[in-house]
Parts: sequence; C-alpha cells; structure tokens
Amino acid sequence: MSDYAMYHALGEGAPGSGDPQRKEEANAFRPPIAASPAGYHQSGSPAYSHTPNQYLGAPSQNTTPAQQQGYFPPQPPSPYHSEQDVNNLTAQMGAVGLGVEAAGQPRQNKKKNRHAYHNLETPGGTSQAFNGMPQSQVGTPTQFLNQNSPQVGGAQWAQPQITPAMSQFPAAAGHSFAPVSPASGMQHAARPGEASSGAFTAQSTQGRVDPEHIPSIPKSRDGPAKYYLEHVYPTMEHHIPPPAVVPFVAYDQGNSSPKFARLTLNNIPSSTDALNALALPLGLVLQPLAPLQEGEQAIPVLDFGEQGPPRCRRCRAYINPFMQFKSGGNKFVCNMCTFPNDVASEYFAPTDPSGVRVDRLQRPELTLGTVDFVVPKEYWSKPPVPLRWLFLIDVTAEAVNRGYLDGFCEGVINALYGGENDESQDAESTKGRLPPGAKVGIVTYDKELHFYNLSSSLDAAQMLVMPDIEDPFVPLSDGLFVDPKESKAVITSLLTQLPNMYSEFKNPEPALLSALNAAVTALTATGGKIVCSLSTLPTWGPGRLFLRDDGNMHNTDAEKKLLTTEHPGYRKVAQKMVESGVGIDFFMAAPSGGYLDIATIGHVSATTGGEVFYYPNFHSPRDTLKLSKEIKHTVTRETGYQALMKVRCSNGLQVSAYHGNFFHNTFGADLEFGVIDADKAIGVMFSYDGKLDPKLDAHFQSALLYTTGSGERRVRCTNIVASVSDGAAESMKFVDQDAVVNIIAKEAAARITEKSLKEIRGALTEKTVDILAGYRKNFTGNNPPGQLVLPENLKEFSMYILGLVKSRAFKGGKEPTDRRVHDMRMIKSMGTLELSLYLYPRIISIHNLDEKDGFANENGHLRMPDSVRASFANVEEGGAYIVDNGQVTLLWLHAQVSPNLLEDLFGAGQSSLKGLDAFQSALPVLDTHLNAQVRNILQYLESSRGSKALTLQLARQGLDGAEYEFARLLFEDRNNEAQSYVDWLVHVHRHIQLEVRGRRRADTPDTIFG
Ligand SMILES: [Zn+2]
Repeated sequence: MSDYAMYHALGEGAPGSGDPQRKEEANAFRPPIAASPAGYHQSGSPAYSHTPNQYLGAPSQNTTPAQQQGYFPPQPPSPYHSEQDVNNLTAQMGAVGLGVEAAGQPRQNKKKNRHAYHNLETPGGTSQAFNGMPQSQVGTPTQFLNQNSPQVGGAQWAQPQITPAMSQFPAAAGHSFAPVSPASGMQHAARPGEASSGAFTAQSTQGRVDPEHIPSIPKSRDGPAKYYLEHVYPTMEHHIPPPAVVPFVAYDQGNSSPKFARLTLNNIPSSTDALNALALPLGLVLQPLAPLQEGEQAIPVLDFGEQGPPRCRRCRAYINPFMQFKSGGNKFVCNMCTFPNDVASEYFAPTDPSGVRVDRLQRPELTLGTVDFVVPKEYWSKPPVPLRWLFLIDVTAEAVNRGYLDGFCEGVINALYGGENDESQDAESTKGRLPPGAKVGIVTYDKELHFYNLSSSLDAAQMLVMPDIEDPFVPLSDGLFVDPKESKAVITSLLTQLPNMYSEFKNPEPALLSALNAAVTALTATGGKIVCSLSTLPTWGPGRLFLRDDGNMHNTDAEKKLLTTEHPGYRKVAQKMVESGVGIDFFMAAPSGGYLDIATIGHVSATTGGEVFYYPNFHSPRDTLKLSKEIKHTVTRETGYQALMKVRCSNGLQVSAYHGNFFHNTFGADLEFGVIDADKAIGVMFSYDGKLDPKLDAHFQSALLYTTGSGERRVRCTNIVASVSDGAAESMKFVDQDAVVNIIAKEAAARITEKSLKEIRGALTEKTVDILAGYRKNFTGNNPPGQLVLPENLKEFSMYILGLVKSRAFKGGKEPTDRRVHDMRMIKSMGTLELSLYLYPRIISIHNLDEKDGFANENGHLRMPDSVRASFANVEEGGAYIVDNGQVTLLWLHAQVSPNLLEDLFGAGQSSLKGLDAFQSALPVLDTHLNAQVRNILQYLESSRGSKALTLQLARQGLDGAEYEFARLLFEDRNNEAQSYVDWLVHVHRHIQLEVRGRRRADTPDTIFG
C-alpha cells in the first residue's frame, strides 16, 4: 500500500478529475432503467455485479494498527480529560437525573440502527410495490409508499423494522458486527431483527458519565461514509437520505436524489394538529443544480420541441413519474391536483394491461425524479445566449499594495485557462473552461471606470476611461465581450499587466456603485454574471458608504440595522440586475481587517442569487491560493442565469415561506434569480390548507426555469414524494435531521433583521426543547421520567443547534457585523452538506494514522480514518489535527509534536514548529508515506464540500493566531459565549422535564419558528 503508483492512481481517479475512463466504468454503477430497482438487494442485480459487497470482508479491517512508526510514545490519559472533568459532568448529569444504565449493558445497543434507513418494504415482502413507479391500475398505486408499511404505534414504535440496509449497516456495527464472509443482500434481509429501543437514551454507569456516551456527530458520519463507499443509495427504497456530509452515489428511481431535494419529514402527518405535536418544521431544502458525484448518471436533457414538456392544464405541474395514465393512455392524472388531463396526440402511447405506458422505460421523464426540459420560445423573456462573464476589478491603492489585485488577476487567468498544473492534461485545457459561446469582459474601477476592448484583432487591450461616474454609460459596443479562447493572448496580457499599470495611480477610493451600474448596463441586453473584487470600503462617488460599525453597538437595537441595508442605490441596482437576468459574486478582502459594509454591498449578491467570498484578514501570498481556487470554482461550477423558480405541492398543502438568496416580489410570485449555481440551496416551508389523505402520498415538485451557461433555456424539474400517515409516530421515523437543521437555520437567519440575536438564540433553544419534549411526551411512555430520550433520527440534532448558536452569525459576544451578516446570508443559501460542516467541523488526527489510511482500499476507494469529536478533551499531547468546517481548514499542531512527523509532512530540515513557514497554504509534495496520506485525505475533504476552496492554514500551538479559530471550532467545549455540549444537553433536558410536567415557562415566546 505504500506504493506510490497507488497513490497517484488514486489522485487521478478522485471525484471531479474527469478521467473519461473512470467515468465509463463508473457509469456501470447504475443499472439500466429496465431493471427493477427492487433488484438492488438481490445479489444477482446488475447494480451489484459491479459493487461486490466486500466492505465487511476487507482485509484492512481490524488488522494490527501500524503504530510501530508512531510519532509519539503511548500517552498517559490526556491531561485535558481529567477525572475532575468527568466527575463534574457526572454531577451535572446526575443533577437532572439522567437515567442510570444497568452496569455492563453492552454499548452496541445504543449504536444499533443509529441510522434507521427504514425500508418500507417488510423483509420478504413483495417487491412489486417497489419497482419505483406508481403504476396505474396496479393494486392501489398511489399508496405504494404505505402499502407494506407496518402500522406501528405506541410502544411498538420502539421496535423499528429491520431492513436489509439497516442490518448490513457498518455504522450499526460500530464495534464487533463484522461477519467473516459478506452475506448477500437476501441473507441480510433474512436476518432476525435485533432488539433496539429505536431511540437514544443518555446513560450513565454507576453514577459516572462518559462524555463519549452522548451522541457523537463524528460517529454519525463515519459509519455511513464507509457504507456508502460500497453501496448506492436507491431513492425510492430508503426514505431517510444519508447524512448530508457523506459522499454517496444516488440511484434515481423516480424520487429525486437527496442532493437536489431533502424533506424534513419523509412521512408527513395528515393534519396540522399531528404536525404540531412533533413541533418539527415541514420543509424542503432544494439545491436544484447540485453537483453530481462520479458514478452518477448525468441529468437527462429532454426536448419536446415546440410543444414544450407536457404539463397539467390546471396546476401547470410538469410531467413526472408520479402522474398516472388512464383510459388506455388517453388521460394523465396530475399527482399534484388530481386533474385528469388529455394526453396530446404527439405524446400518446398506449398502456399495457397493467396500466403502464408501453414506452415508459424509454421515457426518462416517467422514470426519473430529476430531469431537464428544453423549453420553447414562450418560456423566453429574451433570446438565450451563452453566459457572459464580466470581471469587475478593483484597482485602488489598497488592492495594489496588498497583493490582492495580483492574486485576483492570477485567479481569473487560472479560472479561464487553467493553471500550469492543468496544461499537460490534454487539448481541453487550451480550449478553455467556459462552455462554447460563453464570452468574457473586463472592467476595472477606482474613482473612474475603465473599459477594455479585448478584440482578438488587437495586439493589446485598448482601455477606454469613463470619468462620468454620476451617469456612466458603456463606451464601447464591440470588443467588450469576447470569446476567451480567441482573445486569450489579449486577456492574459492585460490581466498580467494590471497590477503594474495601477501601481502608478494608486487611487485610494473606489466608486463601487457606479461600477455596478455600468456593469449592469453592459449586460442588460443579454443577462450575465459579474465577478467583482473589492478591497476597501467604497467611499467615492454615488453610493459611497461610511463606517457604520464602530464596534460599540453590540447588544443594542442599533446592531440590527448594521445587519441590513436601506441604501436605495444598492437596493435599486440589485433589482435592476434581477430584472436583466444578471447576478453578482463579490470577492471582498479586508487586508487591514477593516470594515467593508457587507450588509449593504452583499445585499446585491444576496438578492441576485450570487455569493460573497470574504477574506477578512487577507494576506498575500498566504491567501492567494484560496482566492484563486475560489474564483476558479465560481467560474467553473454549473451556473444558470435569468432564472425563475416555482414549487408545487399536493392538494392539502401550500407553500408558507421561502428562505434563501433570491428576489421575491410578492408572495405567490415565482422566486427570481439573476443567477443560480450548483452550491445554492433554497428552503421552502409548507403549511396545511386541509387534511391530507393517509391513503395517498404527498408530492412536491420544484421547477427552475433557467438559461444554461451554454445558452439553452431549460426547466430543471425536481420531484420528491413522501408518504402520509394519520399519527405523528410514523412521521417521527422518517425525519431527516440534516433537512430539519437546515430549515431551522435558514428560518433563524431570515429573522436576524427583525429580532435581536439574543432573542434568536433563545428561540433556537425553545425550538430544540419543543421538538425533543414533543417526542418525549408523545412517544416514549415506557422510559423512566428522568431519562433524556432522544429520537433515533434526531440524536445529533441538539449538537447541531448548539453549533448554530455558536456560529458567527448567531453567537453571543462581540463579532464584527461584516462577519455576522456574511455568515447569516451564507446560511440562508447553504445546501445541507455545506451547512452540516459549518455547524460541526470534521477533525482528523494525523499523528496516529493507520498505515493504510489515506490510500485506496482494494475497491479503489479512499480509506479515511475516523474523525475526532470537536472537544479539547480529545486532543492528544503531541498530536496533529486537520480541522475542516468547509470554510477554513486548519492544521493544528501541538507544541510537543514529533520532529519526525514535521519532517515527514513538510520535508527534510523542517523539524521544529517555529521553523515552519506560517504562511504556507498547501503541503509540499514529498515522497514520505505520511505526506501522501495527508494529501490524499485533504483531497477527499476537498471533494465533499460547498463553495469554499480548501487550503491549509497552520495553527501551531502557542504560535499562530489561527489557534483561536481552532478553539472556536471545538463546539463541544464551552466557548463562543455558550455552554459545552454536555451542559447544553443538561439544560435542554431540564426544560424538557419541565415541559413534560407542564411547568415550563418559555423565556422567549416562540414567535420565530412557524
Ligand atoms: Zn395538476
């Protein structure tokens, strides 16, 4: 395994590398549509022939850990993990009477079924109902989700059904569940159910509390991550998606992949009252352009010509797998509004005797949950063209002096033409990274605006200065937007020279609003995307801003104002952009740590569907790698523009709120996006306008009308289905923790302009208590009253909410408003993966890696070490840790870290902490085992995250400022002016008990969460 060929092979095959050969192989992952999805569990299934379940038999498991070359001798118990701490915990937990576990009770009991992927099919049940499609006139097709679902209620609910997925789930094993030879899917299905409470109970043994006993987010991620290395996620069979942080290959069976849509409840109570008993939000997190993973089939693009895709005449829902064909194929019944539509003659196909259209398997729109429809002219507001990118570059003194202009220009070159590392690959890199037809323009600004003619017929770019910043116009029509391939020489030479050119002028003040107005004028005819850099507060010309945050307004009413903007100029330009199909990403740096008024400027991004990349203490060259990677990411990720979104749902439900970064004119209108990209998510809340029929399923469809980067007008259709039940107990089993946390976080972020931070934190606590007390009151009758009982699927929920309370957006204490408002808007647009990481970091210890960690296993999948809980109690003396929250990645090094480790990691001679270069942002490429392991691990982390690039920042104990960030991210400890995880659980538990006894008085009226 220490063979470097393996390492390199791994590197090339990593997700996103685009190696065509790997892709072909990976496509075999997906069985042909014709295969019954139920075949997933059969050993002979085509899906399985390529993914032998060898995980459990992997020789790498349980072999001797390779500690002979460990970097430090076996440690005595960590000094941070002292008896005293444990006793203290015990006292705290004891005080609220946490249930006492019988001594010697095997730990596995609690770990079993930690992810109860309830398959609605009872073991041995018919697979007929689960072939993924509601088939008209077969049985009671629309009930397929409920058909075989055991009716479980009351005490019975504590015995979850064992499903094939659960029983072979490595997470559940955790300790010793490792059959010698892998069983077939059917064998697993036949396994007898093992006793489990179906709920987590906090336990203590003989009066002592092991902090390791409280629910662990790292464990909740590591087990599923291993499982999904070797298994696909079939979207109709399992009704709780994998944890959002876990990479997985989804197999679309008609229900959209969780990457595109996650419901908070995959089984919905039939009435408001039943939902209220749960206190859980009914919401949907949509990420319509989410990236796919290697091994997943591309979203099909379907063209119905002039007619456009078939739609329901009454509610305008798009054709989807859940619409039923009747009358021999002449009618289709809408799954949203039940209206029987006529099938247009062009779309007619007869149904077979079982009521299924004979051509169903050839029609992706009838078999897949996520499809793209090409749409005809009536869906256009202007003729779609390939996306125009306008780089709007700050050339003021601060940008020049601090190396920010240099870094930004380099980043743009890298984004358009690839870095030096990519040159060797093939002809692709010289063809450029933008889709064919896309065009690029460059405008720079300080207190004037400078336009550039980039025509390929010129030897060098021509600059035109626009001094009129009150009423700027665009001084050239041809040559502003050019083909980046044709004008490569002109563009690269201009970008290379800009830093030098403006080092002579050094205007201190940028006229940002004028630049934005000019940019939107240049893009009005076509729409497009602006990528704008800014390095200082724009204090020149119209829309000049001033220092609003003097640092003295925390915990005052004035603070709320700092988190929003009433500036008419910025509001107006944002609206104009949306109307023109234009969106903007800002790259904002504050090299001197100064105030930038992100509340005002970032408003333009938030309204137009864009994003702010913020470098609060930009340091060149340390941060130029991150800057460059993030510019490249923004330019190369899937981006649509001029977009409208509509979310439809079944009769009985209605949309009650939207949360995200978009423009919403009036409630009921479509959401408008100047631009939307792969990383952006929207939260949608639903309420009841009637009672749902438990015999029917609830359907949701989001339709995003957008123009692709290559200039095609399309609708991205995302369909998702949930079963409906009378009681709330059934729903509790199908809770998606990541979706619940995401919706609550988005709702909280949306209130930050109305409520004080203190009120929001209070409301988050109340909401946590409401949800857990609701569960305690309704579903856990048999547990002793003093026991803290957590729902199986919401075990880590409290910790995630604590992470939210400690986040920069909501934390107590001083925090620059720029950072607060930036993080708050980010939360509003974050998908479930990115938010989960943000609320609880991944921590990997690299001083005690197994020698096989960080290399491919025999199936070619990277073997990741288990992650570490975010508490200093878990930090070992002499240790080295990677801490990654999806935004920053720290390499924390203990003061007594082994010199050998440093040399293995950083190179010969780099044996002292002090001697390391504090500003390095990546590891050198070395021939040592450890260096390769860590680079592979970082590559893995980089492949599963949101929009922010992964670069390393050193946090050496006692030496670097980044150590404060390390301490801040240890969310299980007492920090960020909030409790430790244990104290928080104790607090929540106390309030649950008061609530259960009817003696709770809410400190804050819960007016924040609907
Ligand atoms: Zn309809």
